[in-house]
Amino acid sequence: MEDKYLILVNKTHACPENDFQIVKVNSQYKDNVYLEKQTALAFDKLKAFIKSQGYDIEVESGYRSKEYQAKVFEEIEAEKGLEHTLRFVARPGYSEHQTGLAVDFCLKENNRFYIDFEMQDHPVLKLVADNACQFGFIIRYPQGKENITGYGYEPWHLRYVGNFAQEIKNQNITLEEYLEKE
Ligand SMILES: [Zn+2]
Repeated sequence: MEDKYLILVNKTHACPENDFQIVKVNSQYKDNVYLEKQTALAFDKLKAFIKSQGYDIEVESGYRSKEYQAKVFEEIEAEKGLEHTLRFVARPGYSEHQTGLAVDFCLKENNRFYIDFEMQDHPVLKLVADNACQFGFIIRYPQGKENITGYGYEPWHLRYVGNFAQEIKNQNITLEEYLEKE
């Protein structure tokens, strides 16, 4: 199935050339956040829905250039070592964030932001996991699928796939598995 929103980027598939339009998004978390245009629109809708359920989510990380990814990789490697970094951080050129279709969301609660593992066990994670597909997103790195995706469980990393999200969620599979079936 050919669809630009189904492009695969993982540890063995580098980000391909694409014509995605990258737009600036408003995030209370930080300035200079960018996403692919449809992804930005979809995240706004997801955010509004989550807000209606009583929680504030924001974009913590969106589009990252190859150069920026190199910087992130080096910083985390310096802090946490190579093994941890390879498990959770993509090498430059191999990050889904380079497509603009990936969103790491964070939670704002009591005037502070909770990112990544700081949200562990928070009910907002289940709320997002249950509803993101209605807005075109999948949880890209689900629990127990590390051998397929190449990444540890990251409930905060959403990937925009548009109309395919519901089907991928219904089948309880990863993007890799979905593409293999097509
Ligand atoms: Zn991410």
